[in-house]
Amino acid sequence: MHYKRHNGGMGEFDLIARYFTRPVRRAVLGVGDDCALLQPRAGIQLAISSDMLVEGRHFFAGTDAYRLGHKALAVNLSDLAACGAQPVAFTLALALPRVDEPWLQAFSSGLLALADAHGCELIGGDTTQGPLNICITVFGEVPAGQALLRSGARAGDDLYVSGHLGDARLALECLLGHFALPPALLAPAQQRLEAPTPRVALGQALRSIASAALDVSDGLLGDLSHLLRASGVGACVDTSCTSALLATQVAAGQTGQPLETERVRQCTLAGGDDYELLFTAAPGQRHAVLAAAQASATAVTRIGTIEASPGLRLMDSQGQTITARYASFDHFA
Ligand code: ADP
Ligand code: MG
Repeated sequence: MHYKRHNGGMGEFDLIARYFTRPVRRAVLGVGDDCALLQPRAGIQLAISSDMLVEGRHFFAGTDAYRLGHKALAVNLSDLAACGAQPVAFTLALALPRVDEPWLQAFSSGLLALADAHGCELIGGDTTQGPLNICITVFGEVPAGQALLRSGARAGDDLYVSGHLGDARLALECLLGHFALPPALLAPAQQRLEAPTPRVALGQALRSIASAALDVSDGLLGDLSHLLRASGVGACVDTSCTSALLATQVAAGQTGQPLETERVRQCTLAGGDDYELLFTAAPGQRHAVLAAAQASATAVTRIGTIEASPGLRLMDSQGQTITARYASFDHFA
């Protein structure tokens, strides 16, 4: 309990009741008691993940509140997607500097619109005064033993990524003033940064098809290296495939002003905030992968091959090895 009601202002419990309490549908018990209750069905495992967004660290002060609500849940749903889990419920731990009702209205609208789109209910949380900080824990369902893990990739598997890569990083570079894009190109890239699309349907469609999966949050190569280490394998990545996934470059090319190769590589290989799925599948599964992509209306691109010898090799469009290093994002590096 932190918000004191004064001068007719809104207290902690009014705030929770007004912005964060909805009728419960799938959970046994939602907001209001000491614990929420979930009843997992027989043969179902719960997939659980938490992600925190800190102002000044993960988003700029003044970021659009509706998009921030969307993103706080989206990054968590992305982890469920990477495991092939179906979203069920989430909790919200929120530190707020002050009670700002227009902000709360927009934030909760963005948050709950995405939650509704995925049938994922807000079942509890905590609310306190402090520097703006949003921590969500999501719960998802996956049939026992069918979760997609990082550790299942085998030599000879194909390597795929969903959707687009690098646009979020490009937008970030522009917002930081390191680079400039015309407004017509910046707007969609900024949308990718501030309101990413979690690949929930694709993750579930890949359940019995992919051998390993994870979501790309800190940059393609860095996240790929986690998958390779967990699986005890290496990989070769074709950068002519990954470079083609920068949506901004496709649009820039149409205006006759493409971006430089090196910037495209930097953003697509080591960008961050992509929230795409990176996954592997045996070559015999190519048709099944395409069918899963179609069924979930999500593009997937084959970008390389898993190899027995550890390490990561990058090739250019001529098949030449690229020796440049692309560091991924690390909060403490
Ligand atoms: P307690 O003191 O027992 O931990 P709280 O007073 O913190 O409970 O919260 C009261 C109820 O409101 C609890 O059911 C809690 O899960 C819920 N709650 C608190 N903050 C939020 C929030 N930001 N979103 C959703 N539910 C919340
Ligand atoms: Mg509490």
